[in-house]
Amino acid sequence: MEVELIAITRYLKGNGSPEALLEHAGRVCYRSESRGDPAAFLLARIREGHESLIEHASATFEIRGISRACSHQLVRHRIASYSQESQRYVSMDDPEWVLPPSIAQDEAARALWDQFATQVKETYRALRARGIRKEDARFVLPNATATRIVVTMNFRELLHVFRLRISPEAQWEIREVAVRMLEAVYPYAPAVFGDLRDDLRRRYPEFFDHGRQTTDDGRQTTDHGQRTIDDGRQTTDG
Ligand SMILES: Cc1cc2nc3c(=O)[nH]c(=O)nc-3n(C[C@H](O)[C@H](O)[C@H](O)COP(=O)(O)OP(=O)(O)OC[C@H]3O[C@@H](n4cnc5c(N)ncnc54)[C@H](O)[C@@H]3O)c2cc1C
Repeated sequence: MEVELIAITRYLKGNGSPEALLEHAGRVCYRSESRGDPAAFLLARIREGHESLIEHASATFEIRGISRACSHQLVRHRIASYSQESQRYVSMDDPEWVLPPSIAQDEAARALWDQFATQVKETYRALRARGIRKEDARFVLPNATATRIVVTMNFRELLHVFRLRISPEAQWEIREVAVRMLEAVYPYAPAVFGDLRDDLRRRYPEFFDHGRQTTDDGRQTTDHGQRTIDDGRQTTDG
């Protein structure tokens, strides 16, 4: 997957940083003056729960190569704007798939998958050859079909998404999306995202180590494989 930060709020005064804008919004509340460093002010406001002021800045990400299963989870977050590749207009003649490591690393499961994927591709093409429109032929495509999506969220919603999705309860794929979003936006607003990032990195260092993760039985995986939550239940996210 690729997660790219492609835009972020720019304040038209001062140094232009999103944090300077957020401090300004907060200072309006108290008719107080900036002391030149928004960090301490913003940290105090966020820690006391005055989070509405961080809604004034937002970030836009372009995410490519995630599954439709993952994008479905992402778009459940409603305080956001989305533009997603359309399967009505874009041909899926040659689709890309996102395969969970649990299937990719199990030889027999992988063989089942390969057989299914070939059948899906052939069926889609055969339907198209019969004149079936893309918007109807796509009904044969599975959750594994890769997609791309542009998402814009304000900083408050981003904090919310990071809290929910960088967690053992979240599924491996959206967790990786969320980690990459956090790592991309953090340098632009360390006072906003730093506390949560420190906490998450301390509790779940393995989530921040792209490419190496230990499974429940102690094996190292080469990707963020599916995990079970602490009491052994499988995650149930739709
Ligand atoms: C581990 C996990 C498992 C999940 N399993 C399932 C599942 O089995 N089935 C399923 O359907 N979904 C599931 N979900 C999705 C979940 O229920 C939410 O739809 C999703 O996480 C979006 O988050 P949200 O609703 O908190 O917030 P967002 O849509 O991101 O909104 C942010 C916040 O705004 C407020 N808000 C937004 N809209 C409203 C509203 N209409 N009314 C009141 N307050 C509002 C809420 O405080 C909300 O937390 C799961 C999510 C997780 C993380």
